Amino acid sequence: MSKANCLSMMNPTRCSFDHSSKSIRLLTWQDIASALAMGNLNKTAYYIGRIKYCDDKSVIENLIKEVANLFLTHAKEVGWRIKTDAAHKLSQLACLENIRSPICKTCNGTGKIKNETCKSCGGTGSKGFSDASKYKFLCIDKRNWERRWRERYEFIYQIFEDAEKQISKHLANQLSL
Ligand SMILES: [Zn+2]
Repeated sequence: MSKANCLSMMNPTRCSFDHSSKSIRLLTWQDIASALAMGNLNKTAYYIGRIKYCDDKSVIENLIKEVANLFLTHAKEVGWRIKTDAAHKLSQLACLENIRSPICKTCNGTGKIKNETCKSCGGTGSKGFSDASKYKFLCIDKRNWERRWRERYEFIYQIFEDAEKQISKHLANQLSL
């Protein structure tokens, strides 16, 4: 299990996990919150950390705006013509998918079926939204999604995935895990 997964399973008020070999270290969500605020974690990663590990939903709108702006900057560079509203909606969808990461029903979130990797989720234990639910959310048709928007969505979703890797590294450093 990755450190990020491990942290995300913690209770917001009290948590425990293995430290080095057998000793157990207790961390509170306040420990995580102050670790997130230390150092030079970028805004996106900071907001995601607050939401996922500190149960702080108040920064969701900030996160969506921040990611939409990063996306618009990239869109300009590569010549995608995208309106601010559309970027915001795309960011909102990626945020929902990332934060909710629905549990895979086939393996019940374990990633395995009879000791073999679950084919349905590829062993991750969670399942993202279906393509159909994404283009419906964006109010576009399948053709438009496949021709244009899927690629853009993948870019924006990657921002969240990169941020999670950063959080994991950052917390490991700050908390000396
Ligand atoms: Zn599965």
